[in-house]
Amino acid sequence: MTDLPARRLLLVHAHPDDESINNGVTMARYAAEGAHVTLVTCTLGERGEVIPPELAHLSGAALGGHRRQELAAAMRALGVDDFRLLGGPGRFADSGMMGLPDNDDPGCLWQADVDRAAGLLVEVIREVRPQVLVTYDPDGGYGHPDHIQAHRIAMRAAELAAEAGCPVAKVYWNRVPRSVAEDAFARLGEELPGLPFEKAAGVGDVPGVVDDEVITTEIRGEGFTHAAKAAAMRAHATQITVDEPYFVLSNELAQPLFTTEYYELVRGERGPGDGRETDLFAGIGTGEVS
Ligand SMILES: [Zn+2]
Repeated sequence: MTDLPARRLLLVHAHPDDESINNGVTMARYAAEGAHVTLVTCTLGERGEVIPPELAHLSGAALGGHRRQELAAAMRALGVDDFRLLGGPGRFADSGMMGLPDNDDPGCLWQADVDRAAGLLVEVIREVRPQVLVTYDPDGGYGHPDHIQAHRIAMRAAELAAEAGCPVAKVYWNRVPRSVAEDAFARLGEELPGLPFEKAAGVGDVPGVVDDEVITTEIRGEGFTHAAKAAAMRAHATQITVDEPYFVLSNELAQPLFTTEYYELVRGERGPGDGRETDLFAGIGTGEVS
């Protein structure tokens, strides 16, 4: 393709909602700057728990269809046009939480052959030719089978794409610096009595928390990108209730809505300058589609 924008970002996630929670600011920023932002979601999250009582009747395929619409609304909020389900909608089923019999479903993502699933992602990489890939750490951030598998598929796809002559210049994992998480939860503890949530989560409930020095890159949520992230999270109403600057998932434990997003560069060259990068494309020549 020759009509792609110079900068191209690919994000690989497990379920609808993960992209907005982890990368909403980042996606809104790069979409607004004219970069090509591609989201690949691996499952429709049809085993997720539903928060609003009026939608509690949704389960299985009906919930998957509903979450697909929520995803589309979230992408409108972020200004992202290119969002896809890995292998097409319904190709991989939600695996459910670790240790449940759902994990044994031969159609679930956890049971998928990583090389074959990665091959589907390589097709996207060859089409879009992203310079930057964002996904989870090897634990999937917090141990959910689909998140672990999304990590494996994304990392394997980057290897296979490089072997096929279509390398991705930089690969990042989603992270949260421990000091940021601790400060945010300390504030949440003080403010909880005034919030519509009864209990707070803890630092250990936040995916991807690491020591501050591991962080290589931060993308600050300024102006509209912060608002776009909150709107995108609200679009996932079956999964998330937002009351800024906090939100809850179906466990009903309040946690901070991080308006700066953090990353660890794990493949490729760090951009020039000291300190943390403030641009995922730092150091990448984007003059031509290579
Ligand atoms: Zn998820």
